[in-house]
Amino acid sequence: EIIFSSSATVYGQKKPPPFSEYDELDPISPYGRTKLFFEMVLKDWVNSNLKNRAIILRYFNPVGAHRSGLIGEDQRENPNNLMPYIVQVAAGKQNYLSIFGNDYSTRDGTGERDYIHVLDVAKGHVKSVEKIKKIEKFQIINLGTGKGTTVLELLKTFEKVNEVNIPYKIVQRRTGDVAKLLANPEKASSIIDFKCKKTIEDMCFDAWNWQKNNPCGYLD
Ligand code: UDP
Repeated sequence: EIIFSSSATVYGQKKPPPFSEYDELDPISPYGRTKLFFEMVLKDWVNSNLKNRAIILRYFNPVGAHRSGLIGEDQRENPNNLMPYIVQVAAGKQNYLSIFGNDYSTRDGTGERDYIHVLDVAKGHVKSVEKIKKIEKFQIINLGTGKGTTVLELLKTFEKVNEVNIPYKIVQRRTGDVAKLLANPEKASSIIDFKCKKTIEDMCFDAWNWQKNNPCGYLD
């Protein structure tokens, strides 16, 4: 039995989000292609033996940390992803956040993503382990909330929840970015009985709590 961490980057962009597991696949990044290739390898592996079973979990945008402040992401280099970058601005390690474009077709023009708390991602795995013997032997399941948050909404929520100031500048779009990426979370609910519980506020609070308690990550 294998539970595989795949990614929402496997989806193509011809159809507007939200994406369901049956939508067209066409990853644009090498990273997305590695995920899709391994999904295909696993499908063959499941078909090659009656005993083999697999669940593929397509993560959307995982963020946050454990509520205890003891387990989190140990960021050693300049981060590329939004939440770790916001956290570094709050910590004074970066002067400001560069927002990559405000002319997308979203509520406020900034990119919209489906952020999912890492603890919900972990719970999705626990549910998968519990269900893997009871469901069809090859399943692909989205892990996302189905709710979108823009860059500006995430920034404002982070400032409010943590009472910090995050300076930002609007800059050029980043190559390869899409306007919106959202999950259809219905299959997760019906097949493995999984629903996300954590809010955007939880994600912002926990990300900053981990950073505050561990300014040098796991090195201190
Ligand atoms: N983003 C941004 N500034 C940053 C990093 C990211 O404006 O320093 C935006 C990015 O354009 C996208 C969103 O934040 O709209 C999420 O980006 P991230 O890299 O975290 O995730 P992904 O691109 O994988 O969805």
